[in-house]
Amino acid sequence: MGNWLSVNNTTYMSEKPWPRDGAQRWSTFELYPSWSGERHNVYEGLSYAKDDTYTETKREVVVKTKSHLPIDWTSYLDCHKEATTLATRFNRYAAHLSGDKIRFADSVISPICDVSDIMKITKLLGLITMNLHEDDNVLVEEYLKGNFLHFLSKWGEVRHSKCELLEAFAHFTHHESHGQLVVCNLKGIFNNGCFSLTNPTIHSSTGQFGSKDYRTAGISEVYRNHCCNFICNGLGLPRKNNEEKN
Ligand SMILES: [Zn+2]
Repeated sequence: MGNWLSVNNTTYMSEKPWPRDGAQRWSTFELYPSWSGERHNVYEGLSYAKDDTYTETKREVVVKTKSHLPIDWTSYLDCHKEATTLATRFNRYAAHLSGDKIRFADSVISPICDVSDIMKITKLLGLITMNLHEDDNVLVEEYLKGNFLHFLSKWGEVRHSKCELLEAFAHFTHHESHGQLVVCNLKGIFNNGCFSLTNPTIHSSTGQFGSKDYRTAGISEVYRNHCCNFICNGLGLPRKNNEEKN
């Protein structure tokens, strides 16, 4: 930081490149969150590739910062990585059954470089409770622009009428992993035949996917709530219907 007041919050360059364009990125983000939850807050921002401070590589992003409860960004990214691998396989198998596809948002971890001086002053005046600190790690993620919907709950309950593909995907992840995990809590946008999703939950037998991973109890509950549809049947997944619920 120089002698001038810093207006924006900024991050350092991400250590790892963005999955989609392979570029390391730094970001600048708003003073106040657009959404606040128990585990993280969401700020809107802009991201730039290394050495580019202008517009060529500009992307709209959201910057997620920790809130009241602890959050582990490594587990968050592990969930995205595992879900992306399974979605890529699922898209290939289900291509003849549905024209739509599933993907998960690009995201990277970056440390905060500058907390805006305006935020610091506002905090001194007692107008906000600021919980951003320089060098804290934040998650910078592709901005999912559109009608953001929660399609499937963390227990596999259907929250939206048009999500047969996502229900079949959850069943597919269970079958493909030989019952060792299930990907659920599917939320995001649907655009041009593609579900772009963020922050899924994975329940696993090993409990390796962070604090939202309810292990075998989570796997059983999602499976209990699942009811097969034509895509499950078309993929040859073991049939599961409502009569089997108990
Ligand atoms: Zn099914």
